[in-house]
Amino acid sequence: MLSWEDYHSDKLNQEPATAPIATRAPTAAAVATDVEPAATITEKNTNTGNSTKNAIGKAQSATAKIKPTADELKELTINAARIRVDDKAMINCRADLNQLVPFKYGWAWQKYLDGCANHWMPQEVNMTADIALWKSADGLSDDERRIIMRSLGYFSTADSLVANNLVLAVYRLITNPECRQYLLRQAFEEAIHTHSYQYCIESLGMDEGEVFNMYREVPSVANKTSWSMEHTGAIADPNFTTGTTETDQELLRNLVGFYAVTEGIFFYCGFTQILSMGRRNKMTGVAEQFQYILRDESMHLNFGIDVINQIKAENPQLWSPKFQQEVTQMVLEGTELEVQYARDTMPRGVLGMNAAMMEEYLQFIANRRLVQLGLPEYYSGAQNPFPWMSEIMDLRKEKNFFETRVTEYQTGGALNWD
Ligand code: FE
Repeated sequence: MLSWEDYHSDKLNQEPATAPIATRAPTAAAVATDVEPAATITEKNTNTGNSTKNAIGKAQSATAKIKPTADELKELTINAARIRVDDKAMINCRADLNQLVPFKYGWAWQKYLDGCANHWMPQEVNMTADIALWKSADGLSDDERRIIMRSLGYFSTADSLVANNLVLAVYRLITNPECRQYLLRQAFEEAIHTHSYQYCIESLGMDEGEVFNMYREVPSVANKTSWSMEHTGAIADPNFTTGTTETDQELLRNLVGFYAVTEGIFFYCGFTQILSMGRRNKMTGVAEQFQYILRDESMHLNFGIDVINQIKAENPQLWSPKFQQEVTQMVLEGTELEVQYARDTMPRGVLGMNAAMMEEYLQFIANRRLVQLGLPEYYSGAQNPFPWMSEIMDLRKEKNFFETRVTEYQTGGALNWD
């Protein structure tokens, strides 16, 4: 296992992971696939080998035959003129999706730029104090340890589920290049988040199998995962396409399930607990990782809400009263599952909070999700008992909240260490 120091040691940073080129022996597989046989290289150098001439001849005749068929150019011929903004649409669009501009959805492009400006990597966060605290006999209470384990247990697989849904389902069905540009950025951020959880689990020397398999073993964790998968699975079928009211609504159902509920509600109890721990100067490295993840996630959520609302605006028939009722129900179910998770992870008061306070916070969050989707609030009078969460989430905030590490956390190339 690599310690935090190992990750950052000069040795690790300066020496190549593999042997120097002169002493490196290629494996059989590398020779078979990547490395040209010595004879071919010699022939190329002298430019006289028959096999080289044959290969070049084959390449020339193959390229001479390239004549795009009408079918292959179908998308282009439909818009033989250059792309116009009006040709673009969020779903079921037939304009050429390979051309990013002219921009129609400036909000999507801006989120792509903002996401890139917030770039960070897990190894940049100092975990030394966390490792000492986690390994000390009496530094953390059992309730605090339970919260850390459950959080890493849920999140270590949740971000993979989100990434798979983006890459394997949503990307194909959102027919707009600005949005796809953000989806690619988001997909990488999900990879960074999974990396971050793995990095925390490894740094703290936890049982990886226990943590990563928690979404199959611990009911309050498993229930959330299973809800996400049940309500969003249909579009994962490679044969699924949009184009009818039912299938377009199925895509919307997926977007609500992933963006508004999974990323917009299921992440909030765990984030609040870990960030509250950081505010009490405990597990500040883990808390710092969660701070950056929360900043990314709040942008994922806002992007998802914008996508849903734009699809609604372009296809108002999809947002029927019956469908609105269904979406409200999804938000309420998500809230209920997160409240159950809060009760499971906080059987007693801990870190200045308890399950009842978290319930009110989740109702407050649920109201916000409903309003963002253009639906009425459901939990009347729910207040935010944790106003400091909004401060941590503020995307413009460059100062680090927990003071462990990097300042001015914008663009990975210019980090300043305290
Ligand atoms: Fe996310």
